[in-house]
Amino acid sequence: VMSTTIPSPTKARVLIIGATGFIGKFVAEASLLTAHPTYLLLRPPPLVPSKDVIVKTFQEKGAIVIHGAINNKDFMEKILKEYEIDIVISAIGAEGLLDQLTLVEAMKSVKTIKRFLASEFGHDVDRADPVEPGLTMYKEKRLVRRAVEQSGVPYTNICCNSIASWPYYDNCHPSQLPPPLDQLQIYGHGDVKAYFVDGIDIGKFTMKVVDDVRTVNKNVHFRPSNNCYSINELASLWEMKTGRTIPRVTISEDDLLAVAAENCKPRSIVASFTHDIFIRGCQVNFKIDGVDDVEISTLYPDEAFRSLEDCFEGFALMINDNTYKVEHKIMATKSVLEAVPITASCG
Ligand code: NDP
Repeated sequence: VMSTTIPSPTKARVLIIGATGFIGKFVAEASLLTAHPTYLLLRPPPLVPSKDVIVKTFQEKGAIVIHGAINNKDFMEKILKEYEIDIVISAIGAEGLLDQLTLVEAMKSVKTIKRFLASEFGHDVDRADPVEPGLTMYKEKRLVRRAVEQSGVPYTNICCNSIASWPYYDNCHPSQLPPPLDQLQIYGHGDVKAYFVDGIDIGKFTMKVVDDVRTVNKNVHFRPSNNCYSINELASLWEMKTGRTIPRVTISEDDLLAVAAENCKPRSIVASFTHDIFIRGCQVNFKIDGVDDVEISTLYPDEAFRSLEDCFEGFALMINDNTYKVEHKIMATKSVLEAVPITASCG
């Protein structure tokens, strides 16, 4: 539970796009908590009721809501000037990635933006090379990177790796679900490692880098050493936290490629990333030694990341909670999975 912090007039003024989304919520929370004057760009109403509640909560904490479209250059220039925005953070969803190109044009024209964070929040898209349909999304993120570089607007790319949760291969927001109890799906041999970061830490560390001079024009990689796990190790951690032995089944490389090839969104996109992470090792198969790269722990060595152990402890408490058991008829993991509404489209 976060308390209200009065926005400080001396802090950089932050505009957040996508604050009602999965990643954007964590960033908006952290911006408000660190007393940055915080502006949220939302699409014109109506909002779905659950998002309406989120926005009201942010407004109670001091956020100022602006309605409009980021692919309207004149409008964007107007609000960037009018609200004297210093920092723009985009956490726009997959469908809107290319709309950021107009936003980049607007930021270039106003010349006052001190930092832009594009909607990245995953892998280093210039290094990772997933199969389709994930590749198309990365190509869009790469296009945005090139446009930002050419614009001259100072930027930072957040490469925060995986969300601290069970990495379901068919669900984009897995941290909203506990790990499974009926069976644990192991990708390939299960020994390729990945980094897991709690959503609150994504928000917290994103807000640390936004006005840190050491992160100008850099890719910032989140590699907390205590949160580097293979899926076999994740499975063992979950068994330890629940005190159960849970059967393990193998999802092979071919299985993941077959789901990716179905081209059903978002499931196939997640399958292509799962393949890239847990079969090819896209999070761990390169060193962070380029001039464009920095690892976050080297910037803030005294700031700890929430441990994956602690996150899984939280999930264990959640499944033992009686209200949760009733609502989700626990043990029927399938129904738990379906509790998260995701609009699917295949093509
Ligand atoms: P969501 O789909 O949860 O949210 C998208 C947000 O963008 C919503 O606030 C939505 O607003 C807003 N939005 C979408 N289109 C537009 C538009 N045209 N104009 C203005 N606002 C728009 O996105 P995610 O949080 O899942 O994704 C954000 C980023 O994070 C992506 O780059 C994604 O790849 C990455 N990501 C990384 C994960 C990881 O494991 N590392 C996990 C999930 C995402 P509205 O409420 O109006 O729909």
